[in-house]
Amino acid sequence: MGEPRRIVIVGTGLAGATAAGALRDKGYTGEVLMLGQEAHRPYELPALSKGILLGQTDEPDWVHDEDTYARRDIELRLSTVVSEIRLAAHEVVSEDGTHHPFDRLLLATGSQPRRPVMTGVHLDGLHLLRTLDDARALRAELDAGRRVVIVGAGWIGCEVAAAARRNGCEVTVVEPMPLPLYRILGDTIAEVFHDLHAEEGVTWKLGVGVFGFTGDEAGRVTGVSLDDGSELPSDVTVVAVGAAPRVELAHAAGLELAGAVSGGGLDVDECLRTSAPDVYAAGDIAAHAHPRYGHRVRVEHWATAKDQGAHVAGNLLGGAEPYTASPYFFSDQYDLGLEFRGIADPMADELVVRGDLRAREFIAFWVRGDEVRGALNVNMWDDGDALSALVDGDIRVDRTKLADGDLASLVG
Ligand SMILES: Cc1cc2nc3c(=O)[nH]c(=O)nc-3n(C[C@H](O)[C@H](O)[C@H](O)COP(=O)(O)OP(=O)(O)OC[C@H]3O[C@@H](n4cnc5c(N)ncnc54)[C@H](O)[C@@H]3O)c2cc1C
Repeated sequence: MGEPRRIVIVGTGLAGATAAGALRDKGYTGEVLMLGQEAHRPYELPALSKGILLGQTDEPDWVHDEDTYARRDIELRLSTVVSEIRLAAHEVVSEDGTHHPFDRLLLATGSQPRRPVMTGVHLDGLHLLRTLDDARALRAELDAGRRVVIVGAGWIGCEVAAAARRNGCEVTVVEPMPLPLYRILGDTIAEVFHDLHAEEGVTWKLGVGVFGFTGDEAGRVTGVSLDDGSELPSDVTVVAVGAAPRVELAHAAGLELAGAVSGGGLDVDECLRTSAPDVYAAGDIAAHAHPRYGHRVRVEHWATAKDQGAHVAGNLLGGAEPYTASPYFFSDQYDLGLEFRGIADPMADELVVRGDLRAREFIAFWVRGDEVRGALNVNMWDDGDALSALVDGDIRVDRTKLADGDLASLVG
């Protein structure tokens, strides 16, 4: 496989923009064309549910400086939706009818927030959070004293709740599970987040589903009706019930998709190649045959988008290097900061805790057999390298040392 003359990247998010920069870092001198639906140049999403909602900044972290694209000869076409991939012709077509030929294609179309099918879900004023414009619109409504109802207590729901409380809003979070982040962290650790938000003044409505949304005569959302027949009046309503990979284009082109059970997304092999020659994928859409886990892994995290974007550049240029990094995630809520490494099943794996849950300074390990599958450090920052080594390596686990010993000695 020789070096391509023209590489097209669909999606101007973190994965796509990192890949474009990495192509130039590797000395690639051919054409690089980025096509993206967004009107803004590529930016990172984490600040959207943190600094921007808190009013600390109006700007996200931009992936590259504004002048980088011209300076590095990366053609960036914003506000451009790609509507078709023609595999046989080796081209994509944008909605304005323009044909864009490629030698290699990178699909980095990310995810979009799920909009549940229920009454009132299309009422005006209902907030979903994915883009910079979404975050700015939500921020503009988070004035002190307003009643904010958030549907969904995953990471984004929890971060929005924290920001809204810090802005002085009255916040209620509705979640059908018994605790926030329950499926991700299991009951013992989820309890920590429950208590944190409760102490900060969030009202939890747990173990109850949402029936629909109510509106006024002008068609604006004014409340959330729950499965138990009650209704929560709201001035600001946010739906944060997860995201779905944007695979419509790939699906229409006949590329192989991963099954819903394994998290959906676009099937890619160890090297991030799709089922079609010359077509690759990275970031939120990529359901990757992960060599460490022996099954497909699709990760909706910042680090994966960035690392896969950088990694896939080498393979777009003819390399065949497997992508092997374990997932890594971070979150900030009030004064709590955390990092999560690996893939754990808190319903099945054994939990080992080091530190103090009540003080919210601890590391939680999820252990399967004699391996650490996942590690969550909360307000403890000194052992990152050891945690990565434990999650990545074939290291036999001594549970006593995990709980209370020298972690560095475990990883050699
Ligand atoms: C509010 C928020 C906060 C987050 N905070 C954290 C965090 O704290 N820590 C963490 O680890 N992760 C966080 N994440 C997740 C992380 O940011 C994402 O996993 C990452 O940005 C995914 O990057 P991506 O490039 O794959 O997709 P995206 O960033 O979604 O980019 C995909 C781009 O493709 C474009 N696109 C899609 N279809 C087309 C088309 N047909 N034509 C043209 N363009 C198209 C989209 O408009 C979009 O710009 C957060 C996500 C959100 C939404």
